[in-house]
Amino acid sequence: MEFREWQSKIAEKVIDALRNNFLVILQAPTGSGKTLFALYTSLKVKQKVIFVVRTHNEFFPVYRELSTHFRDKRYAFLVGKSLACVYTSSDVDPQDIYCGGCELFNVADVKINDPPKISLNKLKDESKKLGFCPYYSLLETIKSADVILLTYPYLFMPWLRNSLDINWEDYVIIVDEAHNIENISNMEEKRLNKKIIELAISQAKSQNAKSILERLKENLEKLVYSDDRYILVDNDKLASITLSDDEIDTLTEEYEDIRKDMIKNKSLTKNYLGSVIRFFELLKDEKVRVFSYSNSLVAKYVISSDFINILNDEKISFMLMSGTMQPLNYLRDIIGINRKIVYIDVEKIMRSRLTGTYECLISMDVTTTYSLRSEQMARKYASYLLKIFYNSNKHILAIFPSYEFMHMVSKFLNNIGYLKEDSETSIEDIIDKVKKGKTLIMGIARGKISEGIEIVENGISLISDVAIVGIPYPPIDDYLKLRASEISKVLKKDVSDELIRIQALTAVKQAIGRSIRSPRDKAIVWLLDKRYDSLWWKKELNCLNARKIKL
Ligand code: SF4
Repeated sequence: MEFREWQSKIAEKVIDALRNNFLVILQAPTGSGKTLFALYTSLKVKQKVIFVVRTHNEFFPVYRELSTHFRDKRYAFLVGKSLACVYTSSDVDPQDIYCGGCELFNVADVKINDPPKISLNKLKDESKKLGFCPYYSLLETIKSADVILLTYPYLFMPWLRNSLDINWEDYVIIVDEAHNIENISNMEEKRLNKKIIELAISQAKSQNAKSILERLKENLEKLVYSDDRYILVDNDKLASITLSDDEIDTLTEEYEDIRKDMIKNKSLTKNYLGSVIRFFELLKDEKVRVFSYSNSLVAKYVISSDFINILNDEKISFMLMSGTMQPLNYLRDIIGINRKIVYIDVEKIMRSRLTGTYECLISMDVTTTYSLRSEQMARKYASYLLKIFYNSNKHILAIFPSYEFMHMVSKFLNNIGYLKEDSETSIEDIIDKVKKGKTLIMGIARGKISEGIEIVENGISLISDVAIVGIPYPPIDDYLKLRASEISKVLKKDVSDELIRIQALTAVKQAIGRSIRSPRDKAIVWLLDKRYDSLWWKKELNCLNARKIKL
């Protein structure tokens, strides 16, 4: 195995830190070879590794390294029941699947050698013929594997973690794209809205259950607002939607009947009564708060400590890695990691960039400061984007602070090819669009595009320019205020400013990272807001020599 300079220089330090029970943070950009490095160093410390990624798509790059450099290691992976089950549609909640009534509820001794997607498809094909369950068989394979690939919920959600029945102390656990731990509690949030209740009504059979749900729908509509921001619903108001034990029992009976019918018919679709029941189950936890968000009620945890606490277990070895890791103090104070940490910023240690380079420009005549977000300002932003479009070599990625402002600006973008992110946009849509010609790809900070898109050809990024429209501070809504106040109370200092600033910084760095995927990439970063002309921003973004521009 040949190592890059940084990998050879830092390997011993990482191995040493893991052996001495430090939690290792590895800050290194995408494309610098950190997956191979993490596997190599971890396997020097323990014989077994768990590699935790955000989405199933991210299994493949790990598999590629394993099959090239660690052929002697047995690997396994696990996907959720809704994906592994042979009778489901993809939106089924795994908790609704009634495996007890399934004729395939058996485990087969399967061997996993192919890439994850191919292996899963093969298993699903064979399972009906041979009478076994792909999910439970995959679950069994992880017990004997040297390297296990998992997604975040299997590590951070305590009930799912326990379902794996493995000894976590036997492994080094690598968490990829670990900056996402900031919002890890979102995994456990539950939503309730008019549409969910109406679908539950259409699934319910008894008049009694239908009447309960009709009443619930009526009362819920009085509590929700259309705003795309979290608005706290206080307990007095929540009382109007509370269901009695008898009402919950009635809904549960219906729910169980539907579960059994579905498995009898070998066709598992979403069980909306389950969605209603689980919303109310979550409310029993006093740490959960309920908000209105975009016409829905959202029950969620304000603080992530119950999910993050596993990282503080000194008996378990962890390596958290990302190209946009939060600073050490932030990880300690705001995220709540309180064990011994070794923080390794690879580019700082090597005093050089490991992936491509970028030039920064700061526009001094625009801002998205809320009070100045006018139609006139949107027109100015559109002029910048047109200018960038006509001057760019390849595609352009523009990141906006909100959908609202993105729509406002797009009204003034005529005669150019652009694509606007919405809840339906898939990465495949973007790939199709860019094949047709130069494209301005417009996305939202912290959204699917800005955190997930990779458009490359022969390893080189096809995005030459990144335009950051305004500063993507998270919305200062009731959720953020509550979170800031809870953390401030514990730390006895006000953390609001830090909470907002670091989230914005991570979002900007993520967007820039989309354009530099290899050492040969050279991008232009347009920081379109005069507030970027501050020492803090310029330093954090490595833009100390930024050129100032005007329209
Ligand atoms: Fe459960 Fe059967 Fe689906 Fe396996 S195939 S997850 S046992 S319902």
